[in-house]
Amino acid sequence: MSTEKNIVNRYLYLVCAVVGLCIAGLFLALALRNKSLLKEHLRVQARVNFSNIVLIREWIAMHGGVYVLKGPEVESNPYLENPDLLAADGRELTLKNPALMTREVSELAGRNDLYSFHITSLKPLNPNNSPDVFETESLQSFENGKKETFLVEDTSNGTQLRYMAPLIVEQSCLACHAKQGYSVGEVRGGISVSFGLDEINKSLFHNYIIIMVLGIVSVGLLVLIMWVFFRKMQARLDKAQASLKKMATVDTLTNVANRASILARLSEGFGRHQRKLTQLGCLMIDVDHFKSVNDNFGHQKGDAVLKELASIVSGSLRSYDFFGRYGGEEFLLVMDGADEEKLAFVAERVRFLVENNLGSQSGLSGSITVSIGGTLALAVDKSIDDVIHRADMALYKAKELGRNQINILL
Ligand code: GH3
Ligand code: MG
Ligand code: MG
Repeated sequence: MSTEKNIVNRYLYLVCAVVGLCIAGLFLALALRNKSLLKEHLRVQARVNFSNIVLIREWIAMHGGVYVLKGPEVESNPYLENPDLLAADGRELTLKNPALMTREVSELAGRNDLYSFHITSLKPLNPNNSPDVFETESLQSFENGKKETFLVEDTSNGTQLRYMAPLIVEQSCLACHAKQGYSVGEVRGGISVSFGLDEINKSLFHNYIIIMVLGIVSVGLLVLIMWVFFRKMQARLDKAQASLKKMATVDTLTNVANRASILARLSEGFGRHQRKLTQLGCLMIDVDHFKSVNDNFGHQKGDAVLKELASIVSGSLRSYDFFGRYGGEEFLLVMDGADEEKLAFVAERVRFLVENNLGSQSGLSGSITVSIGGTLALAVDKSIDDVIHRADMALYKAKELGRNQINILL
């Protein structure tokens, strides 16, 4: 029974562990999926930023640059020949080409804490636009056909996502850059876009915490539900098993051991006796004139008397004596370790108790008695049948001698 329980417990732990791990794995996959989606989203955002700035550059290049009003804050592009112009109405204008626009818009975006971008090439016109390490490596890889590069970098401004893609020379670029030796379709440089990841990482971390808490709560709840369910099932099974065992081993009328279990107990004792470990005593108890109890008081009263008899006898025994109903109004008492003296003593005590008590609880006046035949297992006995047969013979003799008496036959 306890090994069965251990197996069920082990099975329960295993199922709980497997389910717990599966759910934990699901939540982990969810968290990782979240991270990879966010990473993809950031890449798309970087590409969009790059495309926007390239579009505006194309628009400016298409128009050969754009003139803006020249004020105190507006510088003239030193890399252009004659960038300034006086309009017919007297206003001073200066030419902004794509490169200058890129730098100025980048400064504006950086000031607004949005993102920053940097136009650069391996051969910059303006030495201030020289590429950094990431940009140099990216530009070199673009020369070899790579379309874009990414890098997550820890800087003094926090963690940054950096993205770079090439600028390809188009016809409109040659107006300014032809003298640098570029031709259409060539990589002329690139724009790198960077934006801070700290806020996003913080949100991601919060997300992890939420997913982890939800995961732990879900696993805990599920394991708890399974635990309770298993325990309830086990309690029911134990109950069903106990009642099956009772049905198989207990006599339903008298609530003492039934014939099968008393014979099993007798066999065990006989085995020990054969191995010369213990003596084995056996008493067969039979109600005297029980038929007339039934005839005079009815079958139900007869049943009540049998119950009462079982209760009187089993209440008077040592814990290691085994008492049960052999059949009808006959009972068997198996006494492990008993010698002849002990056998006779117990038999006489049972006889005496029955004579003086049986019937009172069932509401019958006049004494109901039993005859008892007893024997010990002997060396000549081949099986318990021999022992039972001798106890039966002893009982028959007790009946013959006038009933309400004991007889020991060895
Ligand atoms: P003796 O002193 O020789 O043992 O006489 P007896 O009448 O006890 O013996 P007999 O074998 O003639 O009758 C036994 C009776 O026990 C017959 C049967 O109806 C009755 N009996 C057997 N089992 C039950 C039972 O479960 N309930 C009731 N009420 N009677 C039973
Ligand atoms: Mg009988
Ligand atoms: Mg009888």
